[in-house]
Amino acid sequence: MSSRPEILFPLFSELTKLPGIGEKTAISFEALKVFKPRDLIFTLPNSVIDRSLVLTVLGQLAPKTVSVLVCVKKHFPALIRGKPYKIIVEDSQTSIELIFFHARGDYLAKLLPVGERRLISGKLEVFDNRAQIVHPDFIVKPEQQSELPEFEAVYPLTAGISSKVMQKAVRGALAYVPELPEWIEPSIITSKKWPDFGSALDMVHRPQSLADIYSDAPARERLAYDEFFAHQLTKAIARSQARFLAGRATVGKGHLQDLVWKKLPYKPTSAQVRSIAEICSDMKVPRRMNRLLQGDVGAGKTLVGFMALLHAVEAGGQGVLMAPTEILARQHFESLRLIAAYAGVTLELLTGSDKGSGRKLKLANLASGEIQILVGTHAVFQKGVEFHDLRLAIIDEQHRFGVNQRMALGAKGIMVDVLVMTATPIPRSLELAQYGDMDVSILDEKPPGRKPITTAAVPLSRLAEVVGKLRSAIEAGKQAYWVCPLVEESEVIDLTAAEERFKFLRAALDDARVGLVHGQMPSSEKDAAMADFVAGRTQVLVATTVIEVGVDVPNATIMVIERAENFGLAQLHQLRGRVGRGQAASTCLLIYQPPLSQYGERRMNILRESEDGFYISEKDLQMRGAGDVIGTAQSGLPRFKVADIEKQASLMATAHEDARLLLYKDPALTSLRGHAARHLLWLMEQDKSIRLITVG
Ligand code: ADP
Ligand code: MG
Repeated sequence: MSSRPEILFPLFSELTKLPGIGEKTAISFEALKVFKPRDLIFTLPNSVIDRSLVLTVLGQLAPKTVSVLVCVKKHFPALIRGKPYKIIVEDSQTSIELIFFHARGDYLAKLLPVGERRLISGKLEVFDNRAQIVHPDFIVKPEQQSELPEFEAVYPLTAGISSKVMQKAVRGALAYVPELPEWIEPSIITSKKWPDFGSALDMVHRPQSLADIYSDAPARERLAYDEFFAHQLTKAIARSQARFLAGRATVGKGHLQDLVWKKLPYKPTSAQVRSIAEICSDMKVPRRMNRLLQGDVGAGKTLVGFMALLHAVEAGGQGVLMAPTEILARQHFESLRLIAAYAGVTLELLTGSDKGSGRKLKLANLASGEIQILVGTHAVFQKGVEFHDLRLAIIDEQHRFGVNQRMALGAKGIMVDVLVMTATPIPRSLELAQYGDMDVSILDEKPPGRKPITTAAVPLSRLAEVVGKLRSAIEAGKQAYWVCPLVEESEVIDLTAAEERFKFLRAALDDARVGLVHGQMPSSEKDAAMADFVAGRTQVLVATTVIEVGVDVPNATIMVIERAENFGLAQLHQLRGRVGRGQAASTCLLIYQPPLSQYGERRMNILRESEDGFYISEKDLQMRGAGDVIGTAQSGLPRFKVADIEKQASLMATAHEDARLLLYKDPALTSLRGHAARHLLWLMEQDKSIRLITVG
């Protein structure tokens, strides 16, 4: 089934095939991202109006939608232009005024003839002590009661799409839904008490109470699961296809790693040991590794990565470690040089700054295999960069790297194992959504002996006090970062702010050595500024957010962040993670400009109460939403129509397991359930992955 199953054709036909939808309406529907009947069935009501009949409006708490049987008593046409036309009607106990603006008398006389009975439904209001309904939503004859829905689904609407048009269109689209085989694992269906797909659709589009609108209503939950499941199935297919790709068995003897373990001044954490083992055993099998190493700031990802690189070298190959910025690449290079020396391997750095004969020489040494481990920026992707035998590529701080770069890397060597290291812990649900195709190792433990970081929020008015504290800390030999306000997205404004702050601090701290680093400096200056700070030649480093990722200076114990209210939680956590890396106690000062917004205040509080990146990212997700947490549009985070990735994280986890299990048992999706799952993939427009299976 490599093409769309015929029974799904109607759902993928033109919208204009539906009753009541012409060309114009079809175009209006586009604003709701509805292009075909299939999109309509997944456009769910966001509220419900109770239109069940009451005997009388007497005692009803207005304003409120009511439905009642009335007898028409008297018409009061509008005598003056602009005044409304009034009709007095009576229910079983009281009279009601029906109000019509700009209505034609003859039309109303026909609609509501005096002496006859009608069912009306609309918003009851009290005006001048009289019960009123302005333009009732429904006026039907008693024998046509079936036209008045007891509960009316309220849909998202747009210009040109009224509630009635929407209702009709959805009903039409629902009629196109064929009977489909069940694709969800039966035990999940049973334990969750979910309806089948068709019934679930019926139920969500015919809500009977507000509870039916909530995301935990069984029918809604099932459809959310369907979305997650299709998504995870796609990821699982991609993963299993990648695994079929021939890889090479990179088997190290462990002799280089042993050398490092012997000389390393500290012991690895058990999380580091576990991750290294997971990575190395992945590398040993002849399949391509595609693994994510997740760990909070300061968890020690670099060491794990380096041990994996050594494993590649032990097997006679080469490895590359890529960082998103030049500063970071250089720092990795500097700190790894020491460990590389323990093992006696040749490490080299390649960045955009390498030019001319220097670069030529490095490239030659890389091609000959003399350089065993290369550290660099995206410069390692450039043409002309060729390895002798590249076996492992590590991408550090994935968030700064696009998915495209990950792909470009694969092209450097078809058999290359890939390890991605992310610094920002992301909640499990997001991790699955974004990286569901990868295997994951988690560093959930920090090296021992770290002192907690004291975090305080300080209003800008107390700047002088902060500078005073900074001065005494510096006199005691400590080092500090000073991160400048993110006034606007523009680097230029960042820059002036940083330069001004730099001048101010240099003046305020007398002879203290203050350095400056920002993104627009030539990289040689950046490196020099960083090197000065690392070596302790400068004590305060004024910076823009370029220091956000990765930089490691254990002697720095103070982090000042100006206009902290303008930063996101995850970013603040990352920045703060630059301190608290050594043995001494550290401080983080969040300087803000009052008044703080409600969210601003919550962000500060969360940071004060926790240093746990996973906890903080969960909170971040709750406060901001998935797209923002991941950051960019290129993140590849899917948009779900029914499911709510923030609230239904556990469903995503179940879908992840279920998808992997199904594919494990039925890699080609040829079983009964496999076939059902193919229907789901088509329905959820994940047909690209179907092609993968078909080809593979
Ligand atoms: P991140 O996970 O943020 O990239 P790093 O790899 O930069 O963290 O490590 C942070 C610091 O912790 C470094 O100075 C590193 O040398 C140190 N470190 C790493 N592992 C350990 C360990 N097991 N014990 C003590 N210090 C460690
Ligand atoms: Mg790091």
